[in-house]
Amino acid sequence: MPRALWYHIYPGLWSDFFSHLGFQVHLSSKTVRKTVECAARISESEHCLPLKLHDAHLHEIVEKADWVFIPRILSTLPRHIACPKLGALPDCARAQFGDTIEVMTVEVNEAKFPLRRSLCSLGRSLGARRRRVRQAADAALKKMQKRRAAEINSTRSTESEYFLILAHPYNLNDHYMSGPVLSKLDLLNVSWRTVNFSQRDIAPKILNWDACSIMYHTLENLDAGQCRGVIQLSSFNCGCDSVAMPMFQRLLREKEIPYMTLVLDENEAQAGIDTRLEAFVDSVEWKRKGISSS
Ligand code: SF4
Repeated sequence: MPRALWYHIYPGLWSDFFSHLGFQVHLSSKTVRKTVECAARISESEHCLPLKLHDAHLHEIVEKADWVFIPRILSTLPRHIACPKLGALPDCARAQFGDTIEVMTVEVNEAKFPLRRSLCSLGRSLGARRRRVRQAADAALKKMQKRRAAEINSTRSTESEYFLILAHPYNLNDHYMSGPVLSKLDLLNVSWRTVNFSQRDIAPKILNWDACSIMYHTLENLDAGQCRGVIQLSSFNCGCDSVAMPMFQRLLREKEIPYMTLVLDENEAQAGIDTRLEAFVDSVEWKRKGISSS
């Protein structure tokens, strides 16, 4: 499996499920500079960075595996839809690597049926017995919930005031993408939290895309007395974010919470990130103390 994109939406779920069924799972390596260089070389230039990285991770494993697993994700949240690009991933992989690999897939559409049903149908298609499939699905889902809870607790700052990091799960959970930002904030000695994607009971408001709707809901419920600022990590050429970001901006302006966006692409350099984060954190601090930046 490629360790990219949907892999980070459902942390650890698919590897645990296949392992419980007795399959040996090979993941691509973690994203490093070489992965990003490969992405820039082999992927379609108009893709967003997470899609390019998905291609690069696939590229790494196609030579080594007989089968590659890529789910067709149509929705990850009841009453919502996923970014349409996630629904086309198995077809894109077949088009790009079809001669060298077999693509195994399953539909994930949490707007229509629970994730457990997708797992059960995948397990059955692999010939596993019904009871064993149910046990594997339950065990993998339980582990994923635990993992998510641990992630949330590890990012929950104990400070009453914090910066909120807003990003799609694959930007947040891929250390190559979010690591430079989070470590810089630690160096600046500011506390931060990340958006919580385990929230399920969310009504679609002005945004029907699952991840964007969770982000919007989180911003709506922010307490301006506690949240000092919001930092969004977006990806270059992200269609959903290009619609959502002006809405986030409007909402945060009404709440008088400072907001900045960092757009990640394959050329992003640490120096550029550092400078912008320092400037943002300083300007938030000056505003709080009533100091003019001019
Ligand atoms: S939501 Fe944005 S970053 Fe994610 S796959 Fe869609 S276009 Fe790419």
